[in-house]
Amino acid sequence: MTSPTPLSQRLSERLARQREQGLWRQRPLTTRPQSVSTQINGLATLNFASNDYLGLANHPAIKDAARQALNNNSNSVGSGAAHLISGHHLSHHLLEDELADWLGVERTLLFSTGYMANLAVQQVLTEKGDRIVADKLNHASLLDGARLSAAELKRYAHADMTALSRRLQQAQQAGQQAMVVTDGVFSMDGDLAPLAEIQALCQTYQAWLFVDDAHGFGVLGDQGRGSFDHLGLTPDANTVQVGTLGKAFGTAGAFVAGSSHVIEALIQLARPYIYTTASSPVIAEASRAALKQVRNDAARRQRLHHNIRHFRQQARAMQLPLMPSHTPIQPLLIGDNARTMALADCLKAAGFWVGAIRPPTVPKGSARLRITLSADHTPAQIDRLIDTLAKTCTLQEAAQKTAQGTES
Ligand SMILES: *Cc1c(COP(=O)(O)O)cnc(C)c1O
Repeated sequence: MTSPTPLSQRLSERLARQREQGLWRQRPLTTRPQSVSTQINGLATLNFASNDYLGLANHPAIKDAARQALNNNSNSVGSGAAHLISGHHLSHHLLEDELADWLGVERTLLFSTGYMANLAVQQVLTEKGDRIVADKLNHASLLDGARLSAAELKRYAHADMTALSRRLQQAQQAGQQAMVVTDGVFSMDGDLAPLAEIQALCQTYQAWLFVDDAHGFGVLGDQGRGSFDHLGLTPDANTVQVGTLGKAFGTAGAFVAGSSHVIEALIQLARPYIYTTASSPVIAEASRAALKQVRNDAARRQRLHHNIRHFRQQARAMQLPLMPSHTPIQPLLIGDNARTMALADCLKAAGFWVGAIRPPTVPKGSARLRITLSADHTPAQIDRLIDTLAKTCTLQEAAQKTAQGTES
């Protein structure tokens, strides 16, 4: 029999382990509006760490929409209740209709966060006896959603279509309904899921397909319609998509897009939809304005893609460890946790803010700098980042040391 442990003792031991393993996390404090040039921890900094890919978080037209939403007593700040009680405001309803029209789907449903949408979809659409087949590099919220569902979870090696097809074959032999779950654009790698192959396999094995396109919507495809559109594909009736509004849209919240059956089932059954307060109508109005920008401002999206090409060209010229990504997520693979942190610190000292991503967010030994690009970066700012990485912080050496370390 062990005797009960004081809470403070347990936690101080746990926290000490986090520190020892180089996994200590901190919340940098931002004291200016989200933008390419901002102030973090008191330092003026060029921000290469946000998911505000189109620069809409601080866009005047969208801020104006939020202000207008409160004028003429047309909206309250709070929704007041859950959607099924009295919190479903006209602004939410119009935003859902406009999102459905944009994507050409039957219906969409708003959620307060993408995390909650991902819990909801898998809980409601799968039942005991079903099988969720998930890419190993899926976002943490997709993994948590699978764990909370009654289905059996099987994972396949990242983007490995042979492994996926084996998993689907096994499900078929066992008489299980399968649902394939994948990021559209992988959040820590920036690469795209092979959706054409995945869609074909799903059709062959009559599996359902659930794609989280948090980083694809707004960025890829005609009018920013995401990964499917970018690849020239159309989601079929057995496909469900999730998009978030806190990334390229620059606001907050998320939506599920799919058939009316899917949406109605979520309204009736999804606990993360039913038992939570509806998000602010002000945010819904801001998101409606953001959708207009996403649909109509093609030049902004082109600037972003120009920046992505420019970054890759310059980084390649400096022999930086690029990953195979053509999206705004441009990670540089370092490997070692401490070296990754040291590089991020070196960049900070030079006035650049870049995400340092360590396990468990990415697999062990694959810590990386997660550089994200925005339409609002100038090519000159990108050049300065790469120059600092290569010359001041000597990133190539850090990456080489790691490579040698893992060989020995
Ligand atoms: C950010 C993200 C989410 C979570 O969305 P939130 O609205 O921030 O909760 C889900 N999936 C992916 C792939 C993401 O990158």
